[in-house]
Amino acid sequence: MPDTTTLTSLPFDRTPFESLLKRRVFFTESFEIYRKATNFNGDNKGLYDYGPPGCALQANIVDAWRKHFVLEEDMLELDCTMLTPEEVFKTSGHVEKFADWMCKDPITGDYLRADHLVESVLEGRLDGDRRARSLAIEKEEKAGSDSKKNKLKAKDVEAMRLDDPTKQEYEEILAKIDNYDGPELGELIKRLNIRNPNSNNPVLPPIPFNLMFKTSIGPSAAASAYLRPETAQSQFVNFRKLLEYNQNQMPFASASIGKAFRNEIAPRSGLLRVREFLLAEIEHFVDPDGGKKHEKFEEVREVELRLLDRETQLAGQTDLRIMMIGEAVKQRIVDNETLGYFLARVRLFLQKLGVSMEKLRFRQHLANEMAHYATDCWDAELLTSYGWIECVGCADRSVYDLTVHAKRTGEALVVREPLAEPLEVEEWQAMLDKKKLGPKFRKDAKTIEDAIAALSQTALESAAATLEKEEKITLRLSDSHSDITLSTDLITISQVTRLEHTREYTPNVIEPSFGIGRILYSLLEHVYWHREGDVARGVLSLPPSIAPTKVLLVPLSAQPAFLPILRTLSRKLRALGISSRIDDSSATIGKRYSRNDELGTPFGVTVDFESVKDGSVTLRERDGMRQVRSSQEGVVEAIVRLVAGLETWEDVESRLPAFGVE
Ligand code: AMP
Repeated sequence: MPDTTTLTSLPFDRTPFESLLKRRVFFTESFEIYRKATNFNGDNKGLYDYGPPGCALQANIVDAWRKHFVLEEDMLELDCTMLTPEEVFKTSGHVEKFADWMCKDPITGDYLRADHLVESVLEGRLDGDRRARSLAIEKEEKAGSDSKKNKLKAKDVEAMRLDDPTKQEYEEILAKIDNYDGPELGELIKRLNIRNPNSNNPVLPPIPFNLMFKTSIGPSAAASAYLRPETAQSQFVNFRKLLEYNQNQMPFASASIGKAFRNEIAPRSGLLRVREFLLAEIEHFVDPDGGKKHEKFEEVREVELRLLDRETQLAGQTDLRIMMIGEAVKQRIVDNETLGYFLARVRLFLQKLGVSMEKLRFRQHLANEMAHYATDCWDAELLTSYGWIECVGCADRSVYDLTVHAKRTGEALVVREPLAEPLEVEEWQAMLDKKKLGPKFRKDAKTIEDAIAALSQTALESAAATLEKEEKITLRLSDSHSDITLSTDLITISQVTRLEHTREYTPNVIEPSFGIGRILYSLLEHVYWHREGDVARGVLSLPPSIAPTKVLLVPLSAQPAFLPILRTLSRKLRALGISSRIDDSSATIGKRYSRNDELGTPFGVTVDFESVKDGSVTLRERDGMRQVRSSQEGVVEAIVRLVAGLETWEDVESRLPAFGVE
């Protein structure tokens, strides 16, 4: 494995891998037969169905997620509606800001995501330059053989070659591509003459495109709604109920797993950029006072992470800093313990799934790249043949969401804690003489009361000064009202001392957000390999706990005497919650094992003539293809221990006798 820090994508032959996934129906494009039969165009792209092994794999990833996070951290799980009234997303800022920048090719009508357009064209030019340089070397080596072919190459070489400052500029732009906003991308597109790669036409300047799917609820279609692009908002709006359920104890986390929908401008790269996907999200609510400490931080302090921080990216580089999370928090590279705790826990989770640790990095978001609600964000990115892919986003959403929902609804989304010692608070207080106010202002009296009650401490202080000096204050209620004057006989503003017995605060939110489809696909790339010298014999080395099916049960031949033994084994395994499949097809035993290597099935049990005589069976391990032999009970027990992670294959080999070789 080369040093992955310098790689922009994984060297990987996708053809046999994709053919395996297709053949074994891990997943498939949705409505595929319609795609072929009718004029289904690009607008229907980015939709996928999972087949049986894909479903089982996804279920096992979700199960591992629940155990690793929800169970381990006592999180409060919610299952919320995907249909969300427009008002909620207006408040959260999604209606206005949940958008990507998009360019249109005015001639072909193609829509292109502006940052992806710049990225792909500049990467293409850099790639051309690399090829030109290697061709030039080749030409030098062949100097003297002045063939027609070499002359042609010389012309191409010149066209593709970039001078050093241009090359450096392109590399710097790419290193911080996520930091450009729409106008900046527009400037780059114009200055660098970036065109639609499919048509070579110039494109129109970028415009924002909202990624939410709009719909309406009910027969009147009057209630506008959106399909949720994240599960988070429902967790925020339920905050008070969750806090009460948690007996007002802080900190705590809620969690939710469910579908999210984003109308991506250009879905691409299979499962990596789709329009409907499974999200698993955690909202960890923490007291902002005291530096956002985490009581279990000690447990992860020594977990090593590969970090790509903001400063490095802004310098146009991609070098990783490899350090323990304890050190990263100490040096404030990662802002606080709670964020650091989750980054470490995310790494441990991905490791459990079988993700390759050399192909994982945590990249900090650049300032412009962050979502409108975030104050800091680190993405867990996995290296794939499509490049470094954001699979888990860990954002510090601070008090943003709870504050905006509280303001819009009037609901107190805060924590109230009794104070050990009451606190003396000095504050400005306004008193209205309601007996006089009513008769004087009639229907406006209530509006005036509300406006006064809404004044901040600073506004009250300044109003008190005006009242003292001018014996009246002027109040603007709204544009439609004329100004209201309140004199000292109607209002007094004074400073009072109040005893506070409770502390009230809005919690900060740390949010790790997992795209299950992206994790699943990247994991499959990481665990795929093929047997020496035979591309047709692919293997998926998924860990036993994650593999779709745990055991393949095979009879050595079509002997009727083998079947009852297989059925008994299958029943026993099923009773223990271990998935197995019987393959009694007529294919050779080698072929049957190969088929299951492709499905990532970690263990195989073979029933043969000896089994009928003495009840013993063989147990085969997928990666090394070695086998041991034992009684059926012994083999079932070994499988249980292997799947639960209580024993490794080497442990099993050390206590059960080896059997033959394939
Ligand atoms: P975000 O809220 O944008 O940080 O997204 C949260 C997670 O959802 C990301 O880390 C991805 O794993 C996943 N995700 C976002 N957009 C897509 C998409 N179009 N297709 C698949 N997964 C996605």
